[in-house]
Amino acid sequence: MAHYEPIRKVSVVIPVYNEEESLPALLSRTQAACQQLTQKYEIILVDDGSSDSSGDMLSAAAEQPGSHIVAVLLNRNYGQHSAIMAGFSHVTGDLVITLDADLQNPPEEIPRLVAKADEGYDVVGTVRANRRDSWFRKTASKMINMMIQRATGKSMGDYGCMLRAYRRHIIEAMLHCHERSTFIPILANTFARKTVEIPVQHSEREFGDSKYSLMKLINLMYDLITCLTTTPLRMLSVVGSVIALFGFVLAVFLILMRLINGPEWAAEGVFTLFALLFMFIGAQFVGMGLLGEYIGRIYNDVRARPRYFVQKVVGVRSEENSQEEE
Ligand code: UDP
Ligand code: MG
Repeated sequence: MAHYEPIRKVSVVIPVYNEEESLPALLSRTQAACQQLTQKYEIILVDDGSSDSSGDMLSAAAEQPGSHIVAVLLNRNYGQHSAIMAGFSHVTGDLVITLDADLQNPPEEIPRLVAKADEGYDVVGTVRANRRDSWFRKTASKMINMMIQRATGKSMGDYGCMLRAYRRHIIEAMLHCHERSTFIPILANTFARKTVEIPVQHSEREFGDSKYSLMKLINLMYDLITCLTTTPLRMLSVVGSVIALFGFVLAVFLILMRLINGPEWAAEGVFTLFALLFMFIGAQFVGMGLLGEYIGRIYNDVRARPRYFVQKVVGVRSEENSQEEE
C-alpha cells in the first residue's frame, strides 16, 4: 500500500477521571500489553481534573526511571473527549490508540489493533462482542448509534467503544478542528479513508460507577449531533412546509364543501380559522428553518474545520529536484 508506512511507534492515550482504584491494574496491564509490541511505545495518561489521588499516582508513575508513561494533568474537569484531545496534542507515535481507564476495554487487545492498523487502515474501531453495561446505558447508546447512522450514512456498528486506533494523520486533522465540543470517533471517521471494525471483549466496570451522569450523557448526545451535521435545523423547514401544506389542503377542502353544502357547514367558519392558522404556523416554521440555515452556516464557519488535509505529497517539484541534484 503506497500511502501507509509501517508503524514505528505506538502511542496509547487514556483519559483518567477519579479512577484511583483501577489505576494500578490499568498501568500494569497496559504496560504488559505494550511490551509485546515489536514497535516502540508510549503511554499518555491524561488526568481530567480528578479530585482523588489519580493525578499524583500518574505523576509518580511517569517519574519512575525508564518509564514509558507520560502524565498530562489538566487543571479541572473538561470531559472525556476534551481530555483525549489534550492527550493527542502530546503524542509522538505513528499510531494512536485510545482506551478507557476503567478497564472495560481490555488493554490486552492493543497488539491486535496495532496489527490490524498495520494492514493499512486509517481507523480501527471495535465492536463490543459481549457488552456488559446497564440496560439503560445500552438502550441509550443503541439509539445514539442509530441516529448517527441515519445522519452520516457511515455504518460503524459501535461508536460508544473508545478502544480505537487512529493513524497519526487523522490525529493531526482532528487537532486542527477548532470546535469546542467534539465526539472523537465520529470526527475521526470524517477524515478517514479506510476504516475497519474488529470485535473485542468487554467486561463490567470493576471499580466505582460510570463517570457519566444523565446530564453528562445528554450533553454528549448534543455534542455528537452538532459534531455531525446541522440537519436538525433544516428539519424545521421541512416540518413547517408539511404543516403549511396541510393547512392549504384543508382550506381548499373547506371552501369546496362550503360551496356545495351552503353556509351552515363546518361550524360557521371555525374550521376555516384552523386552516388559516395552520398555514401561518407552517410559514413560521419555514422562517425558523431559514434562520437555522444561516445559523448552521455561521456555526460551520466558526468552528473553522479546514477544508481538506493533505496526507502526503509524493515527488518533489522539478526545480527543487534539480537544485538537490547539483
Ligand atoms: N472520563 C474523563 N472525564 C470525565 C468522565 C470520564 O476523563 O469527565 C474518563 C473516565 O476516567 C474513563 C472514560 O472517560 O476512562 C470513560 O468513562 P466511563 O467509564 O465512566 O464511561 P462509560 O463506560 O460509562 O461510558
Ligand atoms: Mg466505562
